[in-house]
Amino acid sequence: MGFWIQAFVGLGSNLHEPLQQVQEAIQELKGHRKLRNIQVSDIYASKPVGPQDQPDFINAVASLETQLGPHDLLDLLQSMEQLHGRLRKRHWGERTLDLDLLTYGHAEIRTPRLTVPHPLLFERSFVLYPFNDLAPDFIFNNGLTLSHYLQKVAFDLKTVKKGN
Ligand code: AMP
Repeated sequence: MGFWIQAFVGLGSNLHEPLQQVQEAIQELKGHRKLRNIQVSDIYASKPVGPQDQPDFINAVASLETQLGPHDLLDLLQSMEQLHGRLRKRHWGERTLDLDLLTYGHAEIRTPRLTVPHPLLFERSFVLYPFNDLAPDFIFNNGLTLSHYLQKVAFDLKTVKKGN
């Protein structure tokens, strides 16, 4: 058996009862036999990036441990997106469920399918603030801290649900 690696996953939805989509996805992560020790941030609402004529997003971050490799973990996340009937109408547009692999241990990964740490992680309030709920002392593989990035980004979110 391999080592258990801690990974962080970003969850987002702005279609078809987004809060429910995100809460169901959290339950699916918690029930998955290949994942353990799931912790979940508060749940937030954010204004869409890109086209503004679409509903607000619901966002959260989950931490998990897995023995899956990063590409197998991405497969798992993508199959969950499919199960939620992921609709993707346009780039930066609305979607039923978006799952991003934010970090995988302290690995740096650049393959055609996978860039880790996820590049948006460092600049998006809707990722940084929920990440901070879970791991305020996190240090990225570039040596910079979560709080370094957090202080550059305003809190422009609404807290929808505390304590998960
Ligand atoms: P998006 O719908 O914007 O989340 O992009 C999905 C695509 O991004 C998929 O084809 C993935 O292979 C690719 N991708 C690259 N890096 C990541 C990552 N860290 N997490 C999730 N998807 C990723």
